[in-house]
Amino acid sequence: MTIISKDIVKAIEILNNDDVVAIPTETVYGLAGNIYSEKAIKKIFQVKQRPLFNPLIVHIHSIKKIHDIVSEFPDKAKILANAFWPGPLTLILKKKSNIPDLITGGKDTVAVRIPNHPVTLSLLKQLSFPLAAPSANPFNRISPTSSLHVEDYFKNTISMVLEGGECKNGIESTIIGFENNEPVLYRLGSISIEDIINVIGQIKIKNNKEIAPNAPGMLAKHYAPKTKTYLVNDVENFVKNYQNKKVGILRFSEDIHSINVVHVEILSKTGDLKEAASRLYNSLHKLDNLNLDMIVAEIVPDFGLGKSINDRLERATK
Ligand code: AMP
Ligand code: MG
Repeated sequence: MTIISKDIVKAIEILNNDDVVAIPTETVYGLAGNIYSEKAIKKIFQVKQRPLFNPLIVHIHSIKKIHDIVSEFPDKAKILANAFWPGPLTLILKKKSNIPDLITGGKDTVAVRIPNHPVTLSLLKQLSFPLAAPSANPFNRISPTSSLHVEDYFKNTISMVLEGGECKNGIESTIIGFENNEPVLYRLGSISIEDIINVIGQIKIKNNKEIAPNAPGMLAKHYAPKTKTYLVNDVENFVKNYQNKKVGILRFSEDIHSINVVHVEILSKTGDLKEAASRLYNSLHKLDNLNLDMIVAEIVPDFGLGKSINDRLERATK
């Protein structure tokens, strides 16, 4: 049985006991454990059924704590951290030697960020250790943006979800690492490329859909509904070919009327990409629970957060 509760004291007790708690962040809910507890970290991998080579993001509450985690903090990383933390930016930096291999998948780098959620910041301040917290979903499934999504996935395996409301951004963090001291963007996310460029200028992008990637968020298939999902430009034309199927639609801003369409999720009636990003996973969860034959998603405008949304939709439809 999983309790959904706002009781931070209870969450602290569980975490101090080498166990895991699902926590709210502005991106998606995370499945958190003490980075120095082998038992807690192994449980994260086991509960998520995540392969051990997939490293985890370390969450801290203050930039002052960065030197507990990393051995190098390049100038451009500092500029990015100052611009976006607390917030949905993950930096991949050279790790300190005491960061366990389990956290980093054996790499000499570690992923770190300060999340922008009052409940989790308060939790982190009261703990004597940072939290590793990958998204609280089984490997390859849709990320959770509410406590109920987490409960649905893990009611038999975790004891507590710390309630923090719906995730405001609703898409994972943007991940930036460094190669030869130059920043490289590895995962599109809640901060748009345009916003990153505004702060540090042009940046190399390696958000490839690889089979054995640097970052698991880059796996070609990821964030996927159970229902067969298609990604198309022209939803109206596409569904005409499937008159005898029960179809669910995920559209950017317009409605659609067609007899075989059981349900339509509209991401933002005003065409606002930030709103669309925040609703993406919730809409996919809803559609996936309707026992449909297929979900047809519309490609959204490909700029700003639209690029991150399209990236997730492509991976959901692989
Ligand atoms: P999740 O929190 O489930 O979105 O997964 C954590 C993300 O951080 C994954 O996409 C990882 O690949 C990425 N990540 C964590 N540590 C590293 C690292 N040392 N090198 C590259 N990517 C990393
Ligand atoms: Mg994930």
